[in-house]
Amino acid sequence: MKLRICHLYPEFLNLYGDRGNILVLKRRAQWRGIEVHITQLSLGDKLDPKAYDLIFLGGGPDQEQGVASDDLRAKGPWLKEAVEEGVTLLAICGGYQLLGQYYRTNSGETLPGIGVFDAYTEAGNERLKGNIAIRVEELGDETPVIGFENHGGRTFLGNASPLGSVIYGDGNNGHDQTEGVKYKNAFGTYLHGPLLSKNPHLADYLIGLALQRVYGEVELQPLDNSLELEVNRSVYQRFLSTKGKW
Ligand code: GLN
Repeated sequence: MKLRICHLYPEFLNLYGDRGNILVLKRRAQWRGIEVHITQLSLGDKLDPKAYDLIFLGGGPDQEQGVASDDLRAKGPWLKEAVEEGVTLLAICGGYQLLGQYYRTNSGETLPGIGVFDAYTEAGNERLKGNIAIRVEELGDETPVIGFENHGGRTFLGNASPLGSVIYGDGNNGHDQTEGVKYKNAFGTYLHGPLLSKNPHLADYLIGLALQRVYGEVELQPLDNSLELEVNRSVYQRFLSTKGKW
């Protein structure tokens, strides 16, 4: 089996170690004997919607988002086609915002999104930052998804469903307890960290979805997740009483 990953804008959408998510996906697949191909695409590159099983975009500050937003105008239709075909996609924070309808920055500039997700984002005054834990229904009740968030943007969902519900932290907008978004096999989230190193259940969920589209039902060989789950448990517990804040 082969897992073909596309890493978009790796050189400037890479806040708080977002690139680590690629390493986690790669290793967890390779440990199971799955061949991994990673393609990095950036400004001006063509994106073949049929060439990848999993597409990843990290987060970035407003200025970098502006550059990506211009380029996404060209890549948007290809990305949308891939998502409609059921390709798995994960976008973090700044990347997530650009896959919605638009992101209005603090300076009042509106960066158009490509509308993969029915969501829009507008900058607020205070940054929403701290540790965050969410419950993702598809992953069961036992282990939350944990991470770190730091965003000025508040995201509001239209018809789209959230990725999860906030246990503590701010999530999409600090008000409605929603976090992230999902549409088909595409997911957006505010969780940095890198997200997948502390959430092996989510990493495997994404690998499974990506492979299933091509190979049908696949059963991923279990791995020893004891260290990762210990980190997840201890970080979750540490910030439970402070609701994510220091
Ligand atoms: N610039 C965006 C915001 O502050 C995204 C930041 C990020 O990716 N962490 O909302």
